[in-house]
Amino acid sequence: MSTEFTTRASSINRALDQIGDKWCLLIIQEVLWGINSFNDMMAAMGVSRGVLSNRLKWLQAVDCLRKERGPTGSSRPRYHLTAKSIELYDSAMMAIAWERDWYQTPELDRVELVHLGCGKPFVAQMHCASCDGLVQMEEVAYQSGPGVARDVREKKVRRRSSIAITEVPSERALYRNLINIVGDRWTSNLIALSYHGLTRFDQFHQELPVATNILSDRLKLLVEEGVFEPVAYQQRPLRYEYHLTSKGKGLFPWFLTMLQWGDKWCDPQQGGKPVLLTHTACGEPLLAQVRCSECHAELRAHDVRFTLDGEEISA
Ligand SMILES: [Zn+2]
Ligand SMILES: [Zn+2]
Repeated sequence: MSTEFTTRASSINRALDQIGDKWCLLIIQEVLWGINSFNDMMAAMGVSRGVLSNRLKWLQAVDCLRKERGPTGSSRPRYHLTAKSIELYDSAMMAIAWERDWYQTPELDRVELVHLGCGKPFVAQMHCASCDGLVQMEEVAYQSGPGVARDVREKKVRRRSSIAITEVPSERALYRNLINIVGDRWTSNLIALSYHGLTRFDQFHQELPVATNILSDRLKLLVEEGVFEPVAYQQRPLRYEYHLTSKGKGLFPWFLTMLQWGDKWCDPQQGGKPVLLTHTACGEPLLAQVRCSECHAELRAHDVRFTLDGEEISA
């Protein structure tokens, strides 16, 4: 049996194939908040040594972490973000915004984000750089770009683990529900396809030719998580379309940050963007920016202060 298959080139899929595994997403989140030694990560994430070691190697191989010798007197290496992974900050901001909208998360209630630019607590929002309007899923159009192609991808899920993400002990796992939903390559691929208007099993299967039982299982999961709503379109035999719910549509900005990150950092052949996006509200090519809800300035990694119970947890 072949271990490879091809799908339409997509920067979202490329990005997620690099960092979309739930442990990779969690590691990046921990490092963003300053947890950067092996033992601290293991304690924060409740992950086994083997899995953590595997993911750290992987993240270094895709240039999302660099390992440095520990401070003098200590032999423990530390893991740092790279120029590439620091730009995942946008996605972390949109993940937190979505999590606050859809879940009551005790960890998040204890956390406050303050924009240093204006000094106010804020909510991250996604705006169009051209017209300044908020970016909504329904106002984005797609066309083929210069890098349109098919990507050869591995069939097996390399980096899988059975531990439920909701059991992760970290106080900093601020968007664990999002990671739980998207941290599986097939669920995230299905959601991404639904943003292109796909709704039926056969359509999904055509674009994502994995085993049909895997596909059914992930569709079921997305229904259980309230991302898709099944709507019968045929009675005999009974067939469903999978429509995005408001909660599912709410994930769109997070996926858009992944798409933009993938366009920039995950284009190995330098073929250019596979897909071009237009903001139909203004008709301009879409450049989405993550901004502060209070002063509307674009958020940068060092402009945000995180506090947990009033105590600072990030530089
Ligand atoms: Zn616009
Ligand atoms: Zn601000």
